[in-house]
Amino acid sequence: MVLAQLGGSIARALQQMSNATIIDEKVLSECLNEISRALLQSDVQFKLVRDMQSNIKRIVNLDDLAAGHNKRRIIQQAVFNELCKMLDPGKPSFTPKKGKTSVVMFVGLQGSGKTTTCTKYAYYHQKKGWKPALVCADTFRAGAFDQLKQNATKTKIPYYGSYMESDPVKIAVEGVETFKKENRDLIIVDTSGRHKQEAALFEEMRQVSEATKPDLIIFVMDSSIGQAAFDQAQAFKQSVAVGAVIITKMDGHAKGGGALSAVAATKSPVIFIGTGEHMEEFEVFDVKPFVSRLLGMGDWSGFMDKIHEVVPTDQQPELLQKLSEGSFTLRLMYEQFQNILKMGPIGQVFSMLPGFSAELMPKGHEKESQAKIKRYMTMMDSMTNAELDSTNPKLMNDSRIMRIARGSGRSVRDVTEMLEEYKRLAKIWSKMKGLKIPKKGEMSALSRNMNA
Ligand code: GDP
Repeated sequence: MVLAQLGGSIARALQQMSNATIIDEKVLSECLNEISRALLQSDVQFKLVRDMQSNIKRIVNLDDLAAGHNKRRIIQQAVFNELCKMLDPGKPSFTPKKGKTSVVMFVGLQGSGKTTTCTKYAYYHQKKGWKPALVCADTFRAGAFDQLKQNATKTKIPYYGSYMESDPVKIAVEGVETFKKENRDLIIVDTSGRHKQEAALFEEMRQVSEATKPDLIIFVMDSSIGQAAFDQAQAFKQSVAVGAVIITKMDGHAKGGGALSAVAATKSPVIFIGTGEHMEEFEVFDVKPFVSRLLGMGDWSGFMDKIHEVVPTDQQPELLQKLSEGSFTLRLMYEQFQNILKMGPIGQVFSMLPGFSAELMPKGHEKESQAKIKRYMTMMDSMTNAELDSTNPKLMNDSRIMRIARGSGRSVRDVTEMLEEYKRLAKIWSKMKGLKIPKKGEMSALSRNMNA
């Protein structure tokens, strides 16, 4: 089961349960069975699922639920906590610092997405002001250097490699030395992968590692291997000092839940996930925001990071101020739609927004989502300033709706749908009210608040 579907199934199970008039042992069990089924279909280990189920039963007190507390919220919180616990990868052995030279070596099996991920990792940091460089020490696979060169050229990242030299250790050392002299602060070494976990791969890895003394070794793994991820991660860890893991191909049909939970079980910290073939389809893996998105609860830290990336600096304080006042007007929605259209991979941004679950705006349907946003914006273009700035939901009466429909060439139903969407979002965004406006890099408190 694809992760977006998993999130959807869990959210549906919770919704069904909260629709029940009385929540008793039976209703709770049914809900937990539904969630467990979804997790098993995502290839999460049976034992982990069973433990999670019994933990939730232990934590959730049915008497509290009967007393009219927000049942859905209590159980959702328990599910959230348990999923976080299951996926908690711990901390990486080393975190590179901008401005200080770090050598990061990438290892993994052939086809795992290692070379692509090296460039994604470099590109991610370059966008944040680092000075990365790429070294191709993969002399095993014909075309590896060309591939790295192509990616590096596209993203304007300096690279080092050779068509003639067949000794990966020599190339790695020369590349690292060259870039150290150039004061590059993130020197990334791509090593060879092999089809099987043969001894030569591990020996070569060890040699490159000894010669270049990397500050961090990142193991790259394809998520489609599911639970087998445990053995693979373990094998690499035993051979070299793997300090962090990146799981690729979390998009598509991968049973990503299995890989993630299996890697977490080896206590290997997952630091990024690859979510597509493009350079931008690469995300920081942070367990809480990840689970939050999975359950359709939004990812405030990721979203705010995006806001800082795309909203012009002079407009940021104003936007954050408006959000913190909880006054989510149609104009604000319009402006956010404009921002979203600028933000790049639209599915990725949507899934971070509370209210837009990955299921509602699924990957692969970006065009439809984009068309929908544009349709909404056309209708809003026919609104008066008073309508756009109003916080009174009663203002939009039938005659106004009819006028907007006529003006924008859409049906009354379209306008009503857009307004319903606005109301739904306004309700969710009203939670922002009263929250301290965070500065860049200070997102965790906000994120905690929103997810609580
Ligand atoms: P390497 O042999 O480990 O260096 O793997 P490559 O970097 O050559 O990647 C193998 C294939 O996987 C290429 O077609 C990549 O475009 C693709 N790939 C890498 N990462 C991802 C990802 O996150 N999602 C998807 N869908 N494809 C990916």
